[in-house]
Order: sequence, then C-alpha cells, then structure tokens
Amino acid sequence: MCGIVGFIGKNAKTQIIDCLKKLEYRGYDSSGLALINNKDKIEIIKETGFISNIENLSNNMFDDLEIGIGHTRWATTGKVTKENAHPHVSNNGRFAIVHNGIIENYEAIKSDLSHKGYTFSSETDSEVVAILLEENAKTAKSVIENIKLTTKILEGSFSLAILDTHSPDKIFATKKDMPLFVSAGADFASIASAVVGLPHDAIQYIMLENHDIAEISLNTIKVWQNEEMVDRRVQKITKDDLNHTMHNHKHYMIKEIFEEQVALEKTAEAFSSLKPSAKKEILDLFASHKRIHLVACGTAYHACLVGASLLESIGFDCSCHIASEFKYFPPNLNDKCLCIFVSQSGETADTIGCLKLVQEKGIKCLSITNVESSTIAHISDHLLMTKAGTEVAVASTKAYNCQCLIFYLLTQAISKNNQVISIKNLKIDKILQTINQISKLSQIIATFKKVFFIGRGLDSLTAKEGSLKLKEITYIPSESYPAGELKHGTLSLVDDESLSIVILTQKSTIHKTMNAVSEIKARGGFTLVVTPFDEIQPNHEIDYVFHLPILKNEQHYPLISIIPLQLFAYFTSIEKGINPDKPRNLAKSVTVE
Ligand code: GLU
Repeated sequence: MCGIVGFIGKNAKTQIIDCLKKLEYRGYDSSGLALINNKDKIEIIKETGFISNIENLSNNMFDDLEIGIGHTRWATTGKVTKENAHPHVSNNGRFAIVHNGIIENYEAIKSDLSHKGYTFSSETDSEVVAILLEENAKTAKSVIENIKLTTKILEGSFSLAILDTHSPDKIFATKKDMPLFVSAGADFASIASAVVGLPHDAIQYIMLENHDIAEISLNTIKVWQNEEMVDRRVQKITKDDLNHTMHNHKHYMIKEIFEEQVALEKTAEAFSSLKPSAKKEILDLFASHKRIHLVACGTAYHACLVGASLLESIGFDCSCHIASEFKYFPPNLNDKCLCIFVSQSGETADTIGCLKLVQEKGIKCLSITNVESSTIAHISDHLLMTKAGTEVAVASTKAYNCQCLIFYLLTQAISKNNQVISIKNLKIDKILQTINQISKLSQIIATFKKVFFIGRGLDSLTAKEGSLKLKEITYIPSESYPAGELKHGTLSLVDDESLSIVILTQKSTIHKTMNAVSEIKARGGFTLVVTPFDEIQPNHEIDYVFHLPILKNEQHYPLISIIPLQLFAYFTSIEKGINPDKPRNLAKSVTVE
C-alpha cells in the first residue's frame, strides 16, 4: 500500500519515477515528487491517477536535478485530489515531506498550528508534518533535533522522507511502525518504503528501526537513535527482492499462479534446509506449548484455518483470529500459549499490531512471511519463510499455497512423520493443462449475479479462499459456507441467478455434500462441482464439473483445490473487463490499521 522513495545522484527525477513504478503494484491513487533545484528551492509535481501522469507533467523538466523524494498515495485522510497528493510543503517553502501511514492526532495539531497563523492547502493528516517542521525550526538547533521534536508530537504511524532547502544535498528520513530502507552505491544514495523500490543498481540496504533518524547524502549515511549515532545491519539485496517482470504472461496474477509449483518446491526446500539448531528451536516451541493462537488477515487468515486444522489433527488446541478483531476479543494469553502470525508482505499493520501486543505480554511468537526484509520478519522471535518470490498481483495466490504448505511441513516435522510431502505428486501441472476448460467455465461464472462457495471439512476452508478471490477481482457478490450451513440461512438467497461452486475432495463427505447440491437444485440454483471423483459427472442436479487430479493423500487437497478457484477468479475478471492485478479500492499490502 502506497510508497515512498528518495534519490540523490544523477537523473534523480527519472530514478524516482522508476522506483515509484516498482512500488506501483502495492496500490495507490495519486503520486508526486519534490526536487531541490539549483537555486535551493523545491519543485513539486503531483497528480491523481497513474504515475505516468507525473511522468508526462515533468517531461523535459528538472532533468539536471540531483536530489528528490517521491510518493504514491493511498488516501486515508482527505479525498483523492491533486491538492491532497504528496509531497506537502511548509508555508515558507523550506521543507517538503512525503508520508506513509496515518497521523492520528492531526486535527489537534492542525488547529494548534492554525491558531499560530499557519495555513493548510490540503485535507490530509500528512501536511501537519511539513508545517510542524517549519514551526520547530524556530527553536531546534539542527534538522535532526527538529525532526525529533516534530515526530515526538505525532501519534499514529509514519514513515517520512524530508527535504530541507537549508541542507540541499541531503534527504532526511524517519519512521514509526512503517518500513523504510536506505541504500547507497558508488554514485547514488536512496531510500524506499520497500526493498523492491530501491534503484536497480542497489546491492545492499539497511532497514531503519522505529524512531531512527537518517541523514542521507551522496557519500555518507548517518543514523541517529535518540542522541546516539547508531550502526544498522547492512543486508544484501537478493534477486528475489527485485524479481519483477511478467515474462510472457498478460498479468502478474496468472504468472504467479503458474509459479505455484516452483514456489512450493522452494518453500519445501527452504524448510528442509533449515539449520538443525533453528529447526530444533521451532520444534521445541511446539513441544512446550499445546495451546496455539493463529493470527492473520484475509488470505493469510484462510491459510491459518488450514494450519489450525492440521495442528489440531496432531493434538494441539488451536484458535484462529482475524488480526483486526484480536484486540476486541483478546484470547486468554499465558505462557502456555504460542502465537503464530502469518502475513505475505510481513507489513500487514493489523497483524503487526497483534504481534507487538502479544510480545509485550512475554508470549512466544512464530511468524510465517514471504518477505525477509519485512517488519514482521524483523521483530518476530521465530521465523519461517515462504519462498513464493515477489507477489505483485493484489490478489494473493502462490503465497497462500506456500503458507498452507508451511503448516503441512510443520505438522509432519512435529509428528515425526517421515513421509515428506512431494510437491511433484500434487500434480499441479495437470490442473494448468486444463486452462482452456477453466477459461470456458469462467465465461459461464461471469454471467451470474451471485456466487456461493461451499464444502465440508477442509473443503469448507478452500471455499472461503475461493470466494475471497472471486470477490476481490470480479466484484461479483460472493459468500462461502460450510455446506451444512446452507439450510440454516443462505438457501434463501439461492435462485436461478445464483451459482454454487461446490468443493468436494474428501471421500467421507460425498454423500452429505451431494445433499446440499440437491437442495440448491431444488431452489433453481446452478451448481459447479470441483472434485477429483470420476463418478461425479454432470447430471440433472450438477450443471458443471471440474475434475481435479487424484491425490494419494486426500488431506493434501487444500494445496491444489484452490488453484482452479484462483483461475476461475482470474478468467472471470478478464471476462468482465477488469484488470485482475489491480482491483478497485484494494492495495497489495495493507499497511494501515
Ligand atoms: N495519511 C496520508 C494521506 O492520506 C498518507 C497515506 C499514504 O500512506 O499514502 O495522505
């Protein structure tokens, strides 16, 4: 969600725009940049809509300038307008800032500053930072002290990049509860709110800690924490961090679905090559904690549901929590509990909030994430990485299968089951070979006004994720239910404008699930069954069937039964003329609570 970049060096404007484009997939509604010109004045270009808008507006301008900051905004406070787009500038024109996050007490600050005579040109929370810097400059002895005074007043979350015309060769940066990375090369220095947003030439970076203040210039990067200058760990940028092309695919989403096999293989490989000491530490956690709380949002929450069912099956007592609800229904936490947090980006604000809350109580935490440079990876006591590679499409696909796989691998390791799951035996290639059939079925799905997903047991969990995918990128109203719940309410919504997609992979549930199909048909609804069972064929009750490959172990179906559902969502989205990679109103990583 939203992004910050900053660049010092030749072609600063082009570099800033390129880096903003690399963050584009996270979602944004406007963008802007600020550059310091040769007379030490700040030039601003900003506009709503695509980054190409600011690119066009600044065409043939500012090409010789060598320092600037840029922003993609995902509006939280104030409408999507040019005035509200960042950067924001202080009244005297000395400071320009870009901000990610939310300043929760901005109204009080704004009113205070207005009484002092300052004026505001936007509705945003962020603008107060630029004006506060101007006000505090009156007393602060240095910019660093000014930033410290200013951020002390702010409540909420922020990452900030700041230009000060009195230090025209420097960018200043600070953060609280939002990520920010700094990188320097032979002839450039840069900052970005995600490693992928650093310039192509960057080979290493440092991650700023909360309340660090960084002073970035071409030759030196200085970081202060309180009054002390500190060293932050220098980390290498891996190829994965910057892997960001669609290759021959039309969209990132389909590319990422086709990468699932490799992503699962890499995740399994990383798990099996964990250092014995690290593996032991994690297994000891499970040996000493029988009560487990799993916390996540959206797709990752659905992976937790799969994980909980697997861990329950080997004797653990599990509860899953939606991160944004965790503080309202806090579980009874004590030192017998282990908490597991799952987040693809590792920056999901709701999940980070819970993780911190739990850590404050001294409870052990294990996190599962896909981004090694993320906040969650950084602050967790224990970490297991999914190796899905960069996921760009807003709707998560390959990361979901990998999160589920981690729970399978954990469960096997904990129960000392030597039959390690074979990714090849999941027969993902067989599903991908049926792409034409899936695309034709999707043309049919696109004609329905509402789509329900049902299943029993493990299939009811896949149904939830399938429904979320469809909602996210096709805008078709969709719900998912355990099949048995239909008659307790949802059946009233079934009519000849509805399609029910029935997931049926568990032999023991065939009979009861088919009862639900009969109930739907009796109300005029249409049915599409996704199943490996050959005996299930279209008939007077089943309108359409999609056959999954047959797996030896039916407990493994959640790893693959989701794939046709992801593909249904993808092709239905295309059929409806929607860009599946960038559904309206949604952002890739939800970095605000
Ligand atoms: N709260 C700020 C705004 O609405 C920043 C949003 C963002 O992180 O993009 O402008």
